[in-house]
Amino acid sequence: MIYLDHAAATPVSDKVLEAMKPYFGAEFFNPSAAYLPAKKVSADYEAAKGVIAHAIGAKTSDLIITAGATEANNLAFTCLSLDGSMLYLETEHDSVRRAAEAYGGEAIKALPTGLIDLDDLKSKITDETELISVSLANNELGTIQPLAEIAGIIRDVKFDRLKRGIKRPLLLHSDASQALNLLDISVARLGVDLLTLNAAKVYGPKGVGALYVAHGVKLKPLTVGGGQENGLRSGTENVPGVIGFAKAVELAKEHLNGNRKKYANWRKLLLSELKDYELVNKKHSLDNFVVLMFEGLDAERLIYLLEEKEVYVATGAACAASKGKKSHVLKAIGLTDAQIAGSLRLTMGETNTEEQIKEAARIINEIVKAEKERLKNA
Ligand code: PLP
Repeated sequence: MIYLDHAAATPVSDKVLEAMKPYFGAEFFNPSAAYLPAKKVSADYEAAKGVIAHAIGAKTSDLIITAGATEANNLAFTCLSLDGSMLYLETEHDSVRRAAEAYGGEAIKALPTGLIDLDDLKSKITDETELISVSLANNELGTIQPLAEIAGIIRDVKFDRLKRGIKRPLLLHSDASQALNLLDISVARLGVDLLTLNAAKVYGPKGVGALYVAHGVKLKPLTVGGGQENGLRSGTENVPGVIGFAKAVELAKEHLNGNRKKYANWRKLLLSELKDYELVNKKHSLDNFVVLMFEGLDAERLIYLLEEKEVYVATGAACAASKGKKSHVLKAIGLTDAQIAGSLRLTMGETNTEEQIKEAARIINEIVKAEKERLKNA
């Protein structure tokens, strides 16, 4: 098979699985228990959190482990004691959009490039605005947003509020689910107060994520109980999951530059082989994302035809596609319904080889040609 849907899921790498295994067996102890073997597990858990925190330039105590990115995004939104308003980029993942909408959040426009419209952002920030959410990299286009620039705008607003004696805080949240293994992330450089991470997109286990919470940002608990995760998310720690997440992060860091170069080359290769079709994410994209428009064709049907050849691709976010919804992301950047209906997302990753990329391009060309022929004769 040729799997080109790494934005939807990544397989747990062998080294990650190996690191996790002892914690399902011999090291099964509850980290909160009082005896020595449990204390060792607790220390291993904290050390693993430390590896994840270090990878984004944060402290262990700044991380709240969650059951995935959806939960981390929900924690950021529902647990912030907001009495002001919030803004979110209209192309955000549904776990941000839905949470923001529940608070009456207002959408910030995206430009046709997929980048945030900074003028629209500036015009929508009022004295009531308390939270702004913009993902680091979009999950349908791979668009990398100018977070540091957004943080600069926020800094100016905060300075102005200070001068006018307005005490309302203004926080920046970013969902970095897609970016952790493709960008060098530093919370200080990005200027974020809250950052969502996702193990499942970086060859770690599913259902494991984290929310970075900057020092001084006050959240209400998501769950109450034993007081784990700084009292914000009670429940026995997912020790194997976090050990696996840390290993995945370690490997991602080790291979970051090599992988970026590799995907950039494969992207060029794929685009030269598929040059007859329009590229949607032309600029500012993660290196492993290719979104192509096959206008006049039905991408759902292409997915099915490609699947018959064991090539797995997507139309967009897996959760939206499975419900037959049209991509709100492609709509936001100005694609017509017909263009959206004919768009495919190919996301490369560690399961691929250069040979596979060439073979995938050959198969896509063959299927698209046959499909066009079929429609002509229909
Ligand atoms: N945020 C982004 C940008 C994503 O791509 C995803 C996964 O598709 C999520 C959040 C949700 O992650 P999970 O389903 O692992 O909670």
